[in-house]
Amino acid sequence: MDNTPILIALGGNALILSGEKGYIEEQFIHTAACMKPIAKLISQGLKVILTHGNGPIVGNILLRNECAKNYIPPMPLYICVADSQGGIGAMTAESLNNELKKIGTNKTVSTVITHILVDKDDPAFQNPTKPIGPYYSAGDAGLYIKQGWNMKKIPERGWRRLVPSPKPKKIVELEAIKTLIERDIIPIASGGGGIPVIEEDGVIKGIDAVIDKDLSASLLARELSLKKFIILTDVDGVYLNWESDDRKKLEILTVKDAEKYLAGGHFPAGSMGPKIEAAIEFLKSGGQEVIISKPEDLIAAIAGKRGTKIVP
Ligand code: ADP
Ligand code: MG
Repeated sequence: MDNTPILIALGGNALILSGEKGYIEEQFIHTAACMKPIAKLISQGLKVILTHGNGPIVGNILLRNECAKNYIPPMPLYICVADSQGGIGAMTAESLNNELKKIGTNKTVSTVITHILVDKDDPAFQNPTKPIGPYYSAGDAGLYIKQGWNMKKIPERGWRRLVPSPKPKKIVELEAIKTLIERDIIPIASGGGGIPVIEEDGVIKGIDAVIDKDLSASLLARELSLKKFIILTDVDGVYLNWESDDRKKLEILTVKDAEKYLAGGHFPAGSMGPKIEAAIEFLKSGGQEVIISKPEDLIAAIAGKRGTKIVP
């Protein structure tokens, strides 16, 4: 049996569902539900590497920063990303450990706090596009603009901070992740797209940006020469004409068609777009299969019965 590990990327939106407040009990319920089928696959001998998003969670951390700023110094964005890696990583490890134990599988799960190098000349730094954190009043937005933040007015909602979303270049802890896999330990790595760092004068330092977790996951899958990469999110697959009433689900998609539909505007930036880009990059550099599905469909999707499969 081919025992190349499979990378499974879990969307941040699968952990706090839209409309929920984000109580930790809710997050644990969703995380445990996601880990159940993953534990089953591991018990059957599949090697797995996990990564995850952090959208709603890091949004809450930033809001907490804001609310408490008169009492405790606010933390920079890259530290908030690190905090989210730690929190989600701990919750995921605990949940996976428990699900494995329930079915009598004895394995160690280990969360790797992961830094990802980005290019300090990445054009994203000149043109921040990723909205993040709470909505602000016009007055507060003005103060933040003076302080150097990029702010954008969202009609009806208020002002939001825009941050750069540079491309991931290098996974700083790659050797640690490889070593865990070799020792049959299940890594949870590159959470929230990784802590963005730039290299200057031979040292790395954190920078306020967010890296798309799908693109970081794709980089990880390529660096580890994996064959399969699964993206779990809150839709059951990839659709054409997603916004319209005659949307159509794609069961299987080739790289060529994925590129065509991406250029045709079917996959928006910030949601399905980066997943498709991540899949294309992975499949063009040796990957064999990408699956996009819901967490609860994972096992059926691997069997080809659910989700969307993207192939070279
Ligand atoms: P995650 O946290 O998993 O990264 P995202 O919100 O970034 O979740 O991406 C998933 C979302 O992409 C879905 O909830 C859906 O609303 C949206 N989406 C946009 N275009 C499409 C499409 N063509 N097919 C399916 N979903 C799409
Ligand atoms: Mg996303």
